[in-house]
Amino acid sequence: MRSIDDIEVTGRRVLLRSDLNVPLDKSGSGVITDDLRIRASLPVIRKLSDRGARVVIMAHLGRPKGDDFAARAAGGPSLRVVAERLGELLGKPVAFASDLVGPSAQATVEGLAEGEVALLENVRFEPAETSKDDSERARLAAQLAGFGDVYVGDGFGAVHRKHASVYDLPLLLPHAAGDLVVAEVAVLKRLTESPARPYAVVLGGSKVSDKLGVIGNLLGLADRLLIGGGMAYTFLAALGYEVGSSLLEADHIESVKDVLADAQRHGVEIVLPTDIVAATGFAADAPSIVVPADAIPADRIGLDIGPDSAALFAAKLVDARTVFWNGPMGVFEFPAFAAGTRAVAEELTKVDGLTVVGGGDSAAAVRSFGLAEGAFGHISTGGGASLEYLEGKTLPGLVALSS
Ligand code: ADP
Ligand code: MG
Repeated sequence: MRSIDDIEVTGRRVLLRSDLNVPLDKSGSGVITDDLRIRASLPVIRKLSDRGARVVIMAHLGRPKGDDFAARAAGGPSLRVVAERLGELLGKPVAFASDLVGPSAQATVEGLAEGEVALLENVRFEPAETSKDDSERARLAAQLAGFGDVYVGDGFGAVHRKHASVYDLPLLLPHAAGDLVVAEVAVLKRLTESPARPYAVVLGGSKVSDKLGVIGNLLGLADRLLIGGGMAYTFLAALGYEVGSSLLEADHIESVKDVLADAQRHGVEIVLPTDIVAATGFAADAPSIVVPADAIPADRIGLDIGPDSAALFAAKLVDARTVFWNGPMGVFEFPAFAAGTRAVAEELTKVDGLTVVGGGDSAAAVRSFGLAEGAFGHISTGGGASLEYLEGKTLPGLVALSS
């Protein structure tokens, strides 16, 4: 994979794919609630601009719906607010094109002087961006290629997608990987190629079905697997325990039983919660009690791991030399059920070794607790991408950049 230091950019039009997919305030006001991904994208934008490139950024935002560009553009979300924030952080204006391959984009790109930066409208407003039809994506990629002399791929959070701006476009132009992609891949290599041991992986979040693939691969890599969050209840059910109305994927109980058997064969220790914060319902103010993990009352829902579990998980992390963490231990968005996630996050800051946090909600949890980002070895901007990498899958965006 070439880096941007290996390519000539001065005076040239650089098509830069970034990941600017930030969370927006649910009220629809367009307020950006967390700008981690914009900040993580700045170094490469600054470098390219300082070297005199004409920087044309492409990015996606949310999951627009509609049959064509017009319908999607009407429904949003537009990247215009992101262009404004990017300009503030960059300390200079960012030109914004209100379309992707239309007249506004054309004029914006033509108007760029050396060192100037532009952002094109949400790539996913063009249905071809995410099309399963290779020829549809290729057509969009060819139109985009007309705007640039070189391509730089820096949108780590999207490298696992076979999308036009991620996969097809770099194949049409001289290309290089941006600094963020280079840094993220370097960390993932450390997690998969001779990691320092003991190596502990903490998994939580909502769905076990999303994470069975990665668990399978981790059994050949990690020494300990700590399971919390909503996915823990399918594990507890696999042990034959009552889980009440907790999150349960009943059709995955058999796969989880296989995981438990495989772990034993691989000599991987699986650590499950020993106690649970069981609430009367899924609500921020629901009354709750702490119960043993094998005695969850049938009318209760588990919303967090309990204090004994938090202490147990901490004890399994204290001597680790490599830790990867994905997925909160409970519904941390409700303060009453955030203690387990907070305990794991705080323990990670004390680990003497490489600590990596992957996943949008886990990273948001870290920030909501006021923990310094620098206290972690690495906070990934791409949850899905890092999980697929750890699962051993080939990521289309990285394949294209390596070609
Ligand atoms: P990440 O974004 O870090 O990869 P996920 O998206 O997999 O994490 O899961 C995050 C979500 O899991 C959070 O919104 C959290 O509320 C939810 N969650 C965690 N524990 C539970 C639980 N016990 N019951 C229901 N939802 C849970
Ligand atoms: Mg998530």
